[in-house]
Amino acid sequence: MRYPIGFTMAQARHRSKMERAGHKRYPTVLMLEPLYTCNLACIGCSVERHTGKLKDRMSLETCFKAVDDCGAPIINICGGEPTLYPELKELVEGLIARGKYIIICTNAIKLEEKVFDVIPPSPHLFLMIHLDGMRETHDYVCNRAGVFDKAVDAIRKARERGYYTFINTTVYKETQVEEVEDLCKMVDELNANGILISPGYEYESVDREIFLTKEQIHTKFKKIKDFSPKYRVNATPMFLEFAAGMRELPCAPWSTVNYTPMGWKAPCYLVGDAGFHKEYSSFWNDTNWEYWESRQDHQCQNCKMHSGFEHSAVAEAMKSMKGILQLATWSMSK
Ligand code: SF4
Repeated sequence: MRYPIGFTMAQARHRSKMERAGHKRYPTVLMLEPLYTCNLACIGCSVERHTGKLKDRMSLETCFKAVDDCGAPIINICGGEPTLYPELKELVEGLIARGKYIIICTNAIKLEEKVFDVIPPSPHLFLMIHLDGMRETHDYVCNRAGVFDKAVDAIRKARERGYYTFINTTVYKETQVEEVEDLCKMVDELNANGILISPGYEYESVDREIFLTKEQIHTKFKKIKDFSPKYRVNATPMFLEFAAGMRELPCAPWSTVNYTPMGWKAPCYLVGDAGFHKEYSSFWNDTNWEYWESRQDHQCQNCKMHSGFEHSAVAEAMKSMKGILQLATWSMSK
């Protein structure tokens, strides 16, 4: 199975419940950013996400309120670096008690110290380790030597200890597609559970020439799509077709909502200037979803992010028997 059965079923149950209740839009993933503090300053990361002070982190109560307000079954704890959040253990325990599936999105530097032997493995807990290429590229993107070796060692140890462990890779202008395939091979070598591959988003706060144009995304993802059936790639075939420029999809920014130390970020975690809301109700009711779905905003022009489009890719597949079968086969394989 591409993902553990419980995780796949939780998403299917949520989709069916929301649709039976007549909701056209609903969140499935909450990207919870309890802190904007990080032990790295990666070159493709938005500046505000790694320059915050630990004292400005969210309280546990604030995290749980956001989780309860939005009702998403999957909580992606990111930031900032989640392993620096002092209350991570209590946060994970509280989320598991709520029946949520938790993804900890980490650079893995502190995994051994802050997670192993502190938070036990669980079918509800996934470690998502950031690796943006092989040694030289990843250390360049992370702006620090040795991070690649540390992350690979952490993946090996995490698997030995029984944690569900995935690799998350972002494709930039300099990324060689061959290197992405090497990472896919490494998933098998390390016995990791899969790899998520997404094109980098062009943050306005990052003034380096590292991001891809739409045409460059298509060229790289056509090659990635071609070799993906050989590996445990955790993006649906429809999403890869979209990233390769072979189909169009509307955005579904409401499917992956984002709660930050400044509040609910509208419409998604990527867009820089559409504002924050203190309350979930105003975020949900006052955001012009139709506008953002249309991708007409200049900030959406080169966006092909997994978080915005995977929901639409699955919705598109569910419209035909051929799509349903393709999705089921993909989901059961590897
Ligand atoms: S296209 Fe990208 S940037 Fe625009 S709303 Fe969707 S996810 Fe956000």
